[in-house]
This record gives sequence, structure tokens and C-alpha cells, in this order.
Amino acid sequence: MLPHTIGEIDPPQRLLMGPGPVNAHPRVLRAMAADLLGQFDPEMTSYMNEVMALYRPVFGTGNRWTFLVDGTARAGIEASLVSMVAPGDRVLVLNFGRFGLLLTEILARIGAVVETVDAPWGEVVPMDAVAAAIERFQPKVVATVHGDTSTTMAQPLDGLGDLCRAAGALSYVDATATIGGMEIAADRWGVDVVTGGLQKCLGGPSGSSPITISDRAADAIFARRHVEEGIRRDDITDGTGIRIGSNYFDLAMIMDYWSEKRLNHHTEATTMLYGARECARVALGEGLAPRYARHGAASQAMMAGIRAMGLTVFGDERYKMTNVTGIYIPDGVDGEAVRRRMREDFEIEIGSAFGPLQGKIWRIGAMGYNAMKHKILITLGALESVLRAEGYACPPGAAVDAALAAWNKASIT
Ligand SMILES: *Cc1c(COP(=O)(O)O)cnc(C)c1O
Repeated sequence: MLPHTIGEIDPPQRLLMGPGPVNAHPRVLRAMAADLLGQFDPEMTSYMNEVMALYRPVFGTGNRWTFLVDGTARAGIEASLVSMVAPGDRVLVLNFGRFGLLLTEILARIGAVVETVDAPWGEVVPMDAVAAAIERFQPKVVATVHGDTSTTMAQPLDGLGDLCRAAGALSYVDATATIGGMEIAADRWGVDVVTGGLQKCLGGPSGSSPITISDRAADAIFARRHVEEGIRRDDITDGTGIRIGSNYFDLAMIMDYWSEKRLNHHTEATTMLYGARECARVALGEGLAPRYARHGAASQAMMAGIRAMGLTVFGDERYKMTNVTGIYIPDGVDGEAVRRRMREDFEIEIGSAFGPLQGKIWRIGAMGYNAMKHKILITLGALESVLRAEGYACPPGAAVDAALAAWNKASIT
């Protein structure tokens, strides 16, 4: 291929109904087309302060330290863990899916002593099991995922903060898959650090990770800052600072950059900040409660449509995330052939699954800008047609009718 013949980007108009990423809200894409500013320009720093203010309600917190980590959601996860956990620290992980395993993998690299409290895929971890594990293991940090898209389960988190505080542990929550779609209540949960991403229910592109940090977690993070000789001599707080394993992900340094001190660290990703700012403005403009209700209606509609086709929804419905639905692939149907036809004939992407669920379920998301009635109806209508083409008999029209009725019912109540 001759490089100078490569054409401009002109992607197909796919409807992204997988477990994320999803189509970005047009307002977010427009915000990202705005011109750039220098990182210490007063307009830019005032945008940074606005972002801090916008994300506090999105996280359900009054935390001063609420800002963005530049990078995909995993950047927020890694920055949190590498800044909260030192080699040899004991960390308890609530493990109920692939992203729980990701937490253990990152923690193993840090050199933490990790214990997990597990639930089978499709279930959540009972809070009394968490309490017993904290009691037994005496962790310094407890880490969990809120909604794990790999299993479509949302871990209830009320009470987690109290358990951790009573045991003197800090807590961390990966809320990437739920932020903007299900309630995030950092303060009510009493958890210390929560991170997210834009590409699920916030309806933006991946590449920015909103984070909120309680004061007590911020104190702990600042207390172990790494002082770069000569450059940051004034920041020496005590003689016990442990060198943290990452410069880019050192939350103490990133907080200094987002504070009035504006100490240079990275160059804030201007375009991503514009996008993240608009994601939060769109969410708050809609209202968080109506937005969560919209995702709830989407879930009801999707499940009703799926069941009307004679298919079975995966997992414990009591704890199901509202923004993604797992569906058992019926016997005799080739799950990948269905996904291919959905993409090729209808320009619709649906998700496959990982690990123990690979080849067993599809995952259909309805997140952010895509958690809309017409997009669910279009997806179900397409799926019905594709399933028939793949030899699965289902009653024509039933899915769309059932989904529409369920949407209307859920939107009224
Ligand atoms: C999608 C998802 C992520 C994704 O992280 P990226 O780095 O943005 O790919 C992380 N955690 C959870 C729970 C997710 O659902």
C-alpha cells in the first residue's frame, strides 16, 4: 500500500449496541472539534475547574479531588491502584468477572498481597462475605468493580465504605461501565476512590478517565509521594515517602497539576477534556435521575424483546446492569455468524463474551446516547430477522412489540 494513497477517515455509520464503546453524543463530538489552548491558559484552567465541578454530581460526591486522568478507563484504574497500594500491601478484591481479574492482575504487578472474595460469573458478592473477608484478611485497600460488563452484573455497594472504614482500609471502585447510566453514589457508599470512562454510559469516546478521591485517600496518596530531587524539593512532606512505581500515573503529581499550584506534570489532553466536559454537561442537562430511568427502561425493553423471541436472559436479574443484557445463544445457532450478519446486513454491532461465557452468550448494550427506544427496537427487529436467517424460529414481530410495550410501561412508572 502506498502511504500517499491512503484516504481520509470515513467510517461506516454503525450502531454500536455492544458492551462499549458506543456511539458518542453529537454534542460531544462537536465539542471535540474546538480549537486547542495552551495548558496554562486561563481559559483552559477554568475549563479544568469546570470539569471538576461537573463531575462531582456525576460521581455523587462533594470530593474536592474530582478530575480526569488522561488515558482510557484503565488509566484511571491503574493510577488509583499504583498510587493507593505499595508493594507488600494487602488488598482484597471483590471478584465477579473479567474486570475483577484485571484488578488482581494490576495489583500483582504492583507487588501487592492480593486476596479475592469471589462470586460465580452472573452473580454478585454478598456483603456478608465481604465483611468476613475484611475481618479475616485485614486489607489495607479493598477494590471492586461496580458494573462488570463481562457478566452484566452490578455489585451493590451500599455499606462497603462503612465496612472498610471500620477496618481502617481504603476502598477503590471501578465504575467505568455504569457511570452516567446507573447511580454512582461515592459519598453515600462511603468509598474513597472511584474511576470511570467516557465510552459507556457517558456517551463519549474512550480516552479520558474521570476520577474522584476522598480527602482521606488524598492524604494517604500525598503522604507517599515520590520527590524528584531538585525539581520538587518543596514538596517533601516527611521522610517516609515511598517511591511510587509510575510517574505518569502518580495521582499526587496529577492532583498538584489540577490544584491551584498547577505544577506541571503531563500536558492535559485538551480535546479529551472538551469531550469529557460535554459528556457531563449532557448528562446533567438531562438530569441524572431521568437518565438512570432511561437506562432502566432500555433494560426492561431489551429483556422483554429478547424473551418474546423465546431467548433467555443471562445472570441474576436482581443485580443486572441496566445498560447491558446478556443473552444465551440458543442451541444450534452460530453466535459469531449472527454477529456477522448483524454487522454486514444491518450495520449493528452486538457483543460476544469472554472467558467462561465465550460462545455461550451475546451481550447487547444500550448505553448513553444509544439507550434510546428506537435504537432498541431497530436492534431487536434486526436480531429477529438474523436469527430466522440462521435457522432459529421465532414469532415474527413479537420482539419489537414486546419491547415497545415494556419501554412505554417503564417510562410511565
Ligand atoms: C469497559 C470497561 C473498562 C474499559 O477500560 P478501557 O481502558 O477504557 O478499555 C474498564 N472497566 C470496566 C468495568 C469496563 O466495563
